Amino acid sequence: MGRLFAVEIVYRGIFQKNLAKNISRGIVLAAHLDGKMGISFGRYGDSPERNGIPAKSFAIVATDEETLQEGMAKYEPKEVDISIVVDDTLCKGVESWAWYGLQPINRLLTPGGTLIFTAMPAPETIIGMTHRKESPYQLALLRGIPSFSGLWVYKNDHTEVRVLGAIAKVLPELLSLQSVELAIQEEWHDDLKVTSARKAFERVTTRVVSPSEGNPEKPYEFELPKWHELREGLTIPAIPVGGAMVDPQTQQTGGFRPDRNPTFKKFSTRTMRPVVDFDTCVKCTLCWLQCPDSCFDVTPDGLYDAHMESCCGCGVFEAVCPIEHCITMVNETAFADNASQWEAWKQDKTAYQGWVKEKIEHIPAREHGFRIRGQYEEAVKELAKAGVVDTGGEEITERVVSDPGEASAGG
Ligand code: SF4
Ligand code: SF4
Repeated sequence: MGRLFAVEIVYRGIFQKNLAKNISRGIVLAAHLDGKMGISFGRYGDSPERNGIPAKSFAIVATDEETLQEGMAKYEPKEVDISIVVDDTLCKGVESWAWYGLQPINRLLTPGGTLIFTAMPAPETIIGMTHRKESPYQLALLRGIPSFSGLWVYKNDHTEVRVLGAIAKVLPELLSLQSVELAIQEEWHDDLKVTSARKAFERVTTRVVSPSEGNPEKPYEFELPKWHELREGLTIPAIPVGGAMVDPQTQQTGGFRPDRNPTFKKFSTRTMRPVVDFDTCVKCTLCWLQCPDSCFDVTPDGLYDAHMESCCGCGVFEAVCPIEHCITMVNETAFADNASQWEAWKQDKTAYQGWVKEKIEHIPAREHGFRIRGQYEEAVKELAKAGVVDTGGEEITERVVSDPGEASAGG
């Protein structure tokens, strides 16, 4: 019996679909040049995708046909040698179309397997937000800003080839650097991409994560009804109707909290979250009206508190709020929990002001897709100016980053 390798790529639906597809395809092409055989596929349960919802692609590689067939007989791998995570905020866990509840990002990793992150934060920050695992595993960090693109657009910033270079370093039995370089030449005909893969091979850093490290929280899960417990027909319970200002959850007068989907919380969809300065809010209701996910609890004092378990981080209400800096979208990695901002403000307004100041000073090192040509280059330029990425001292041209592998690599 030969050796079977399984790799998953966890990505954000739509924005990173082409990125995940190119990585899984690149793995199979390079493995083929190394004399192995394989297949890459996306998970059916993740379709249709929606913006930002975590989704997965897989690559299965084997040293012989019989082993590959055995691997392919499973709907999807139960264990993987490598999990590739192309957005650092996914370290908090993923809730996908394909299941109910939150799953740790390292859940499928085989003992001793490797989690490859493309991320800017330090390994300790990533580990602190990643759920604990019973067996040790390896964290590999490939420094780079998240590779997001707009709907159906592919951002050619070399993330795909950099990930292939990193795989060759952490699991050379699966791919050799030589086969990665050859596959890149055959697929993309681009020497610069080959250089980016080689640099990633040299620069990826690894560290073993022990079972005592990480977020100790148990991710939320649901007991799903058995088929014989389901109600006949399709019925959706209506939202209970009370007086105009009766809270449907507490039945008390004052404030209003809408009923929410109890089994799909959505917050793992979020890459940025709103920070609200309640002292400047003029209670105009625009955010409450415009939020596409009915996230707002109307508080007894008529303010609007975004419910952090339901917020998908779309940023719509930052755009509609008429008061400057009343709402600021901040990178999700700057937060450790989903606590109510309004309750913190009520408790201690001076301390809350300090918290807001600290959070909005945090540079949001990400974009919600790209709307204009050259936007990515602008973003990298700004980050370089702020010292967040090092572009190696080379001027970023109007056309493309002069060496996108360098820019993403942090120098
Ligand atoms: S970012 Fe604002 S508008 Fe968007 S889902 Fe969250 S609360 Fe609603
Ligand atoms: S849009 Fe801004 S000012 Fe208006 S209620 Fe919402 S947070 Fe307050």
